[in-house]
Amino acid sequence: MRRRTLLSATLLPLLAILLATLLLVTALTGRTVRGFILADTTARLEELVAVAAPRLVAAAGAGPEAVADLCRDLGVSTTGVRFTVVAADGRVLGDSHDRPARMDNHRDRPEVAAALDGAPGRSLRFSSTRAERLLYVAVPVTDADGGRLALRAAVSMARLDAEMRMVYREIALAGLAVGMLAAVIGYVRSRSLSRAVGRLQAGAEAFAAGDLGGRLAVADTIEIAAVAEAMNRMANQLGERLATVEQQRGELEAVLTSMVEGVVAIDREENVIGLNAAGAQLLGTTSARAIGRSIQEVGRHPDLTRLAQQALVGSSRLERDVQLGPGSDTWLQVRASGLYDAGGSRLGALLMLNNVTRLRRLETMRRDFVANVSHELKTPITSIKGFVETIIDEPPADEADLHRFLEIIRRQADRLDSIITDLLALSRLEQDADGGGIELVPGPLAPVLERVLRDLAARRPEQSSRVKLDCAGDLQAAINAPLLEQAVTNLLENALKYSPPGTPVAIGCRLDGGQVRVEVVDAGPGIAAEHLPRLFERFYRVDKARSRQMGGTGLGLAIVKHIAQAHGGRADVASVPGSGSTFTIILPGTETR
Ligand code: ADP
Repeated sequence: MRRRTLLSATLLPLLAILLATLLLVTALTGRTVRGFILADTTARLEELVAVAAPRLVAAAGAGPEAVADLCRDLGVSTTGVRFTVVAADGRVLGDSHDRPARMDNHRDRPEVAAALDGAPGRSLRFSSTRAERLLYVAVPVTDADGGRLALRAAVSMARLDAEMRMVYREIALAGLAVGMLAAVIGYVRSRSLSRAVGRLQAGAEAFAAGDLGGRLAVADTIEIAAVAEAMNRMANQLGERLATVEQQRGELEAVLTSMVEGVVAIDREENVIGLNAAGAQLLGTTSARAIGRSIQEVGRHPDLTRLAQQALVGSSRLERDVQLGPGSDTWLQVRASGLYDAGGSRLGALLMLNNVTRLRRLETMRRDFVANVSHELKTPITSIKGFVETIIDEPPADEADLHRFLEIIRRQADRLDSIITDLLALSRLEQDADGGGIELVPGPLAPVLERVLRDLAARRPEQSSRVKLDCAGDLQAAINAPLLEQAVTNLLENALKYSPPGTPVAIGCRLDGGQVRVEVVDAGPGIAAEHLPRLFERFYRVDKARSRQMGGTGLGLAIVKHIAQAHGGRADVASVPGSGSTFTIILPGTETR
């Protein structure tokens, strides 16, 4: 459909209707005026012939010349009217404007024929004699001899036509004036209408562009004002709804952002359509980089992609642990399910990612620990069992042998006891640390170290001379004295155990960079660098055979580490193979008094 402007759509038809009305009015008025003039002229001519008829009767009696003279006479006295007298046979007897002899027979002229037949005749036609349109009126006249004559009067229609033209011109002028006025008013009105519609359009476009703050001016036209008000209402409602949607989106985003779990949404083409901060962090990307890319590209793991694809076609919830990337030690627990819109049609799939690396590591540690404990316990138990069976099945004849066997059994039982005691100490430590049951009291460190030395001197006086103590009496820390004592004892026992007899061992404490350092230094064989990172693990030993031979459980340093951690500190080791080791318990410092 061809589109038109409001102006051309309203103004042009209006002008066309106006023009048609004007033409119709002109035609109707013209016809009426013309009929009126024609009737008036006819009546005048009838009057003239009625007045002239008695004179013709007299002139007819006086002969043809008199008739011709009468016609001329009548023609002179009434300007513009032509008089003709026609005999019964059609001959022209006289004419006011022409010579009768030159005129042809008039019997067949309709008005003449009617008059000669005894009735008044009338005709409006083109005169070949005068070469113009004439109105003829003829009446029958009976002369003195009883002969029938026709007396005809004619008048030119030129005047009538001129009057008609004038009428038409006046109507046309008036019409033109009315038309122009209508055109101007129509133009002004439709322009203001089109401007109002233009303003509506501009407002609607602003709304469509998202600018819902503005309001449309209410026009003076009822319909346009109604549209403007309706659009303003619409903008209001739209604004409110948008605000609600924005708020809900903000809330949803806040929930997603604060979630620890990663959330990744993909569409049916496996492209990422959204992910939260945790999701982006777990996959090592950003939402700007991930959105619009395929899950294959973003997830970088075939298992993750496979799970997403299964969730896209299936209806059940899937769950799998996935190790991210080659060489990565990050494990994700991925739960995948279909993503549906409010109407229940599938939009894609939703992946929930949970970092289970720590859980997995703990699980591995637990398994290793159980295996280690079993192994550590198995060795002495096997040995005890073996000797007991020997004593029962083949009792040694020699008393000394029996005594030796029982001595071995006692050593292995002691070993079992040490292991179990250390394990219990560790587990108690862990339990107390988890439950916050380890009480720390600010106090001096020197008395703790002195007690360790006193205890050593009581148990093994021959060793105590190797040990030197160097600790400032005023150095303080928040400590649990019995635990710290146990930790330092473990370190001191190791130093004495693993360094050659007679070599010095120093224990001391000092403040360093705001931290309290409790150190045990020996001049033993030292420890190779590759062992240092794992030295504090449970059951880790540099030399297993030597440790066992020395009655070690492999748990001493693990206990030290846990005690240091229970104090909010840590345990450390520095060692130079060949020249000795330094074990340190580092505690958060307090001010010295
Ligand atoms: P163990 O009961 O075997 O002594 P620890 O946990 O106390 O267990 O120590 C772990 C290992 O660290 C020991 O087996 C030993 O190899 C090494 N170690 C500990 N202290 C020293 C030290 N002062 N000098 C050399 N090696 C040490």
